[in-house]
Amino acid sequence: MIEVRLDAVSALRGLTDHPHYRYRGCAPDVDDPRMAAGGSGVSVDSWQAPDLDGGEAREVREAREAAAVDVCVGCPVMVQCMAFGASLTADGKLAEPFSVLGGMTPLERHKAFVEYKKKQAEAVPVESEPIQVKELRTPQKLAVLRGLARFSDPVDVADAAGLDLRTTKWQLSRMAGQMRLEKSAGRAEMLAVAVELGLIAASEVQKPHPLPVMQLALFDADVQLGPSGAAPVPASSSAASAVSFVSSRKRLEAAV
Ligand code: SF4
Repeated sequence: MIEVRLDAVSALRGLTDHPHYRYRGCAPDVDDPRMAAGGSGVSVDSWQAPDLDGGEAREVREAREAAAVDVCVGCPVMVQCMAFGASLTADGKLAEPFSVLGGMTPLERHKAFVEYKKKQAEAVPVESEPIQVKELRTPQKLAVLRGLARFSDPVDVADAAGLDLRTTKWQLSRMAGQMRLEKSAGRAEMLAVAVELGLIAASEVQKPHPLPVMQLALFDADVQLGPSGAAPVPASSSAASAVSFVSSRKRLEAAV
């Protein structure tokens, strides 16, 4: 199955409307707006390349991106941000090709995008049966999806769904098949499809607690979430170079 990518406007809305969005790691710190809220000593400029004549030296870029990624892995909206980072514009291009997003550097996201396009081109157009959303909309499956939106450990998912572990695992496996997910699909992929199909709202998807044990394999990224160090951020900021999701949203919404 071809990887599922959200459209840019929906993905951005899922990110910026998330209840924890204001605690994102790359937002300006309350006490020092030049610094990111989620990382001590990490500049808000770290998510984007500076506009320099001659470009940025490779070592400098790698250090800057590594600092940004470190903050991303502790960010409470990393899953939503990663989905936005992979989302596509109406004409099939990456919505945001330049910033570090969701723990992935621009180069990593570009490589994943190239791979995605390659798989699309290679895909033999088969008459696959459409996903039967009705079959996925049972109370038990919806309960499991809501549990999965909050947790990554199957035991916690089962507890949240009010089911025993065996039934939960069976439902997860069954839903993966019904969603046409590949065997290697992880939590993020299943949640992305569930949101796309309207089974759960994007705002229900949370950073899992406790730390995830399931692979986040959304875009072949080997990503582990860490504890959030993000602090609340002010409503306004002078840091113009912080990752500007709001301006992205306006731009994307104006384009459709
Ligand atoms: S770029 Fe995305 S994942 Fe990284 S800190 Fe900002 S909001 Fe969080």
